[in-house]
Amino acid sequence: MSRIVIIGGGLSGLSLAIRLRERMTAARITVLEKRAQPGGNISTVHRDGFRVECGPNGIFDAKPSTIQLCRDLGLGDRLIVASEASRKNRYLFVDGKLQALPGSLWLFLKSPLLSWRGKMNILMEKYRQRVANVQEDESIAAFARRRAGKEVAEVLADAVVTGIHAGDPELLSVAATFPRLPQFEREHGSVSRGFRAASRKRREEAEARGEKPHPQRLWSFREGLHVLVDAMRERLGESVVAGVSARRVQRTESSWLVEGDGRDSWEADAVILAAPAHEQASMIEELDPSLASEMWSIPYSRVAVVALGFRANEVPAVDGFGYIAPQNTRRDLLGVQWCSSIFPDRAPDGMVLWRALCGGWHRGEVADWADEKLVNAVRAELRLAMNVSADPVFQHIARWPAAIPQYMIGHPERVKRIEAKVANYAGLFVGGNAYHGVAMNDCTEQAIVVADRVAAYFQAKR
Ligand SMILES: Cc1cc2nc3c(=O)[nH]c(=O)nc-3n(C[C@H](O)[C@H](O)[C@H](O)COP(=O)(O)OP(=O)(O)OC[C@H]3O[C@@H](n4cnc5c(N)ncnc54)[C@H](O)[C@@H]3O)c2cc1C
Repeated sequence: MSRIVIIGGGLSGLSLAIRLRERMTAARITVLEKRAQPGGNISTVHRDGFRVECGPNGIFDAKPSTIQLCRDLGLGDRLIVASEASRKNRYLFVDGKLQALPGSLWLFLKSPLLSWRGKMNILMEKYRQRVANVQEDESIAAFARRRAGKEVAEVLADAVVTGIHAGDPELLSVAATFPRLPQFEREHGSVSRGFRAASRKRREEAEARGEKPHPQRLWSFREGLHVLVDAMRERLGESVVAGVSARRVQRTESSWLVEGDGRDSWEADAVILAAPAHEQASMIEELDPSLASEMWSIPYSRVAVVALGFRANEVPAVDGFGYIAPQNTRRDLLGVQWCSSIFPDRAPDGMVLWRALCGGWHRGEVADWADEKLVNAVRAELRLAMNVSADPVFQHIARWPAAIPQYMIGHPERVKRIEAKVANYAGLFVGGNAYHGVAMNDCTEQAIVVADRVAAYFQAKR
């Protein structure tokens, strides 16, 4: 019987175990998870009638892998879609006020967010030639400046990167974080043409399936995203061993040995590292210091999630997703999500639940502030942006010291080097959100890729 050990019981590790089981029904699969509860960044707290997502807020259906996983686990009819208002009403906090983020090109042209020169630059994007001597990998900001001008880079690209990566668009690799953008430029000559072609294709595919085309949407469960973690844990049963930290991964004569931080150890025919990159590095440092050093050099941003509940009649009525404060403003918070306006049952009757994301690449220290200082900072920002002076009736703080891996310029090459080195070791594999995308969809999509790779390895061995 093949013995497989997966290290890290976050979404990547758990979904990989599920996908591996489908491919290798007879294998003995063990998932080692350091914390008492698996799930990694996905964690829902239910207290005093409030339901707080401490990590991800929802599953975006731009890619199918996570929604499909939910369906495969029998959760399809429990999925709920985010409110229509949260899809349409999104804001940026710029120039000292909340400004609507336009949802279409036409609304953009009418919006005060960009100057006329900025708007012209967007309109001209589709006519702009690709520069022949562009560096192989460039930053998101450099790409945005080159394609659509300085204002798009400073306002829009920064806002998107703040919202997804809590990172700096001047430092992050566009090829690694938004691979579709350079691909659109290569294949269609411009990003706007690429987007149009992609949405035409989506529409045609939906019509071919006899479905009504709809815009991409955000999903969750009424009880929160922990439903997905619970279902994976239940499906995997005793395969998940929680409360065990893997310390070292070693090769033995014919197999692998994973040593825990206590006396426990696990022998395996294959080991898959699905913990954060720095954890993977420390596990294999003795085995291959140069591989470990490549893994160490993937940094993470720090984030604190500060959830506050208010009496609805004491705060302005909001109907939308929330707002982002672009990182270049270096504010104490990165943005606020109006959770109870996005999904139902996030707050008791007569109350609202909002969550602020604080820290990020340039203000990581904020995530370490003591609770009182952090809450006061969030309240000061809410006063400024939304004129909120009411006292919160509920608060919950979650800190993520290694929240989101930062795919710096050169990341695609680094990942190739890491994967090439890993391929030298028969039976060793890597996964997790450190390499091929940070969204939940990227993790579940990679789980399939790695599961196929592992299954092919055992097939070839046989
Ligand atoms: C605040 C926040 C908001 C987010 N919002 C969204 C969102 O709305 N939508 C979205 O799609 N994505 C979002 N993401 C990103 C997404 O949640 C993550 O990328 C994804 O959940 C990562 O899963 P993972 O399993 O790769 O890593 P992790 O969740 O980090 O899991 C890794 C696991 O490995 C374990 N581990 C570490 N070291 C060891 C060891 N030595 N031995 C054993 N186990 C170990 C850890 O305890 C952890 O459980 C968000 C992330 C954060 C932090």
